Amino acid sequence: MIITQFDLVRSVMPKEDPTWKFALAATSTVEGLVLRLATEDGHVGYGYASATAHMGSTMETLEVELGFFRAHVVGRSVWDVEAMLGSLDRALRGAPQAKAAIDCAIYDLQAQILGVPLNQLFGGVVRTQVPILRILAIKTPQEMATQAQKLFDKGYRYFKIKVHGDVAEDVARVKAIRQQLGADAHLTIDANQAYSVKDAVSAISQMAEFGLDLAEQPVHVDDREGLSLVTKMVPVTIEADEAAGSLREVYELVSQRAVDAVSLKIPKLGGLRNTIAAARICEAGGIKYRFGAAVGSRLMSAHALHLACALPGVDYACELGEFDRLLDDPFEGIEIENGFLHLPKGNGSGVRPVKKS
Ligand SMILES: [Mg+2]
Repeated sequence: MIITQFDLVRSVMPKEDPTWKFALAATSTVEGLVLRLATEDGHVGYGYASATAHMGSTMETLEVELGFFRAHVVGRSVWDVEAMLGSLDRALRGAPQAKAAIDCAIYDLQAQILGVPLNQLFGGVVRTQVPILRILAIKTPQEMATQAQKLFDKGYRYFKIKVHGDVAEDVARVKAIRQQLGADAHLTIDANQAYSVKDAVSAISQMAEFGLDLAEQPVHVDDREGLSLVTKMVPVTIEADEAAGSLREVYELVSQRAVDAVSLKIPKLGGLRNTIAAARICEAGGIKYRFGAAVGSRLMSAHALHLACALPGVDYACELGEFDRLLDDPFEGIEIENGFLHLPKGNGSGVRPVKKS
């Protein structure tokens, strides 16, 4: 079955709260490209290319990368995944977000042709719903506590507190949110590389007194030794995100036991196929893993949700609900209920393009 169409549409989703920011960026929109692949007999699969500068690609570079990859996909059999994805890797080093869009669209297309949900290609389900962790943008401690309460009232019990490197202020954020929500809330932080090693140890040790399940990427992406030191010195699970930017990096982090956990993201790792491999590496090394933030269309969250329901090692809430704070989603078909995202019914990813009226 031959792929004959490779079409791209820009997606710009305004944030409900245009002041939303974290330590690496502050923008009022979330951008990406929707890739539509179709076969000669009319089957269609979709993938989402996330424009996220700190993963390597912006909207402008994604369009060039995907345009370049087009010739490696069109005219090939939809079943030749290894040959197709291998040729992308040989054609251009890096470009994981563009490769992820192609990888996801191919698997979606395969599932559509077979008439099965996407997860069936990855071993079937070990769960049918995933608890969703919601991210709190950097604001004053009280503003963040107020936002956390709004989400708690909607049924969420897992929260990620974005912090920015000022130890006293960041500890005050965790304290305010714990005092606001009480003992039933699970709290984590994400520093997005903002701390020095010593400040990370100081901040996380103080935050631990308020009950902290996990701290994500405390130090610079390239500081492997620093990350390892923080992991050894604090009583909180340390998770790599930016530092786990490729399969090779996941392998090194796991083999060196530099962290306790790894945040898996399909755009960062270059697709579903690589994300499964990363999960297996973590399982083999006894390192925890879960799905980190998919900020963009429901299409991207749906692909990650199918994998999160198929991988047995996912042991903590996943960040697949950020679409809920974005407007003008080009896809529909999944919604969060009482803090959980349920596998959608239907073939492929289970989400569908919003019909334009
Ligand atoms: Mg992160």
